[in-house]
Amino acid sequence: MVIFMIINELNRLKEENRLRSLKRLDETLINLSSNDYIGIGKNQILIEEFYREYPALPLTSSSSRLISGTYPLVDILEKELKDIYGKSALIFNSGYDCNSCVIESLFDKDTLILSDRLNHASIYDGIIHSGAKLIRYNHLNYEHLETLLQKYQDSFKQILVISETIYSMDGDKASLETLIELKRKYNFLLMIDEAHSYGVFSYGIAYEENFINDIDFLIIPLGKGGGSIGSYLIAEQHYIDYIVNKGRKFIYTTALPPVNIAWNYFILKKIPLLEEERKKLSNLTELAHSLIKNYNLKTLSTTHIISIIIGENKRLDSIVSYLLNKGYFVYGVKEPTVPKGSSRIRLGLTPTLSKSDLIDFFKELDYAINNIF
Ligand code: PLP
Repeated sequence: MVIFMIINELNRLKEENRLRSLKRLDETLINLSSNDYIGIGKNQILIEEFYREYPALPLTSSSSRLISGTYPLVDILEKELKDIYGKSALIFNSGYDCNSCVIESLFDKDTLILSDRLNHASIYDGIIHSGAKLIRYNHLNYEHLETLLQKYQDSFKQILVISETIYSMDGDKASLETLIELKRKYNFLLMIDEAHSYGVFSYGIAYEENFINDIDFLIIPLGKGGGSIGSYLIAEQHYIDYIVNKGRKFIYTTALPPVNIAWNYFILKKIPLLEEERKKLSNLTELAHSLIKNYNLKTLSTTHIISIIIGENKRLDSIVSYLLNKGYFVYGVKEPTVPKGSSRIRLGLTPTLSKSDLIDFFKELDYAINNIF
């Protein structure tokens, strides 16, 4: 792109109220758009216990995994994951790298990928790089998925179906049970991303519902309910060996530092114990959904991620600034991240909120929706 095209595009985004900019988070605000779903990121007791156990870990690995980035802590963590999930594990630096790398290194033009329309950008980037044929099925619409499976089952060497467990923009939930029933009928490969369910459902929905053996590629990004950074891939050893040999986003990057790997290991052992946090999150989720009903607000959510549909970008901006002035940080999601006319406030609940935070916030939100046009 030449410079004048860049400037024109920025101007166009500004005119359409779509210009993104980096804003410093004011930490005095009540954050209702958190991804720290079970509060690990702010859990002082866990943080202090961790630093007592690991007081002086290096802050860099200084190397990629294939050189000296597979230090003993990495090995210990991958072994622990294998014990828990019953399949091999590979740690990536981020969920973005993990999703993209799995798809782009293992699949090519001989594969048909059927992907839920609302899957994350990292999944779509991987698909583009893979060269596989892509068809998006309508969001959570398994009848549509089955029609595509029937139509294409004999046209490709293999089919890969990709879904998330809980969707980050609508806060609705996939049915692993239905996907696995379809897999048994049509014999495809299945990839599942647990970014928004890990922690909230302990070791994830696939683990809790006993579906690990039915999922070929289980992706567990840790930046949200996992309270950390990085991502786990749980898969059969031959896929992992192939990625170690061919996966560019795994090979050509510096491994996570010991401090992060140790924190991931520490948290892995704590996750099943955080029942009180999960109970609190579930009570807050129930309260938020009942307030939404009382105020007659529009949402598609059934979970701790709750999007309130506002409509146009400009109105969303005005409502978000009103709420900011009232002391609430909420994240406005605009088109094109979501379809035109469905700009929304995306709430992410966390157990560090109180019931009165939610009650007061919804009162202000209701006022803003009825008075700001
Ligand atoms: N998968 C999903 C569903 C996500 O929402 C995200 C968001 O960040 C990612 C993957 C990427 O994970 P990470 O932030 O670790 O790169």
